[in-house]
Amino acid sequence: MYCNACGKAMAEDDRVCSRCGNMVGIPPTPKKLIRSRAERKIAGVCAGLAQYFNLDVLLVRILCVFLTAATGVCPGVVTYMLAWIIVPSEPELKPVVAAQQPVTS
Ligand SMILES: [Zn+2]
Repeated sequence: MYCNACGKAMAEDDRVCSRCGNMVGIPPTPKKLIRSRAERKIAGVCAGLAQYFNLDVLLVRILCVFLTAATGVCPGVVTYMLAWIIVPSEPELKPVVAAQQPVTS
């Protein structure tokens, strides 16, 4: 395996080039704002925001409730509803069915 950036030979299990520091093998995942499925309470907007900004979900929820209460229900709830509609939901993870192994005893 060779580094994509500088062409230095690398071990197969190397992930970072020792010469230039280029990441190899793992495609960079673009950060996307999505509504979380695993941690959702209503629509997953707060959990999605927490994931996106790398914050604690509870902190984001408290902030949302506080902002909604402070600004009056209208802007907070409307913003949440808009986020619910606009922000895509996290793709549903299909349960992986393990291949049936013949029972050997
Ligand atoms: Zn390199």
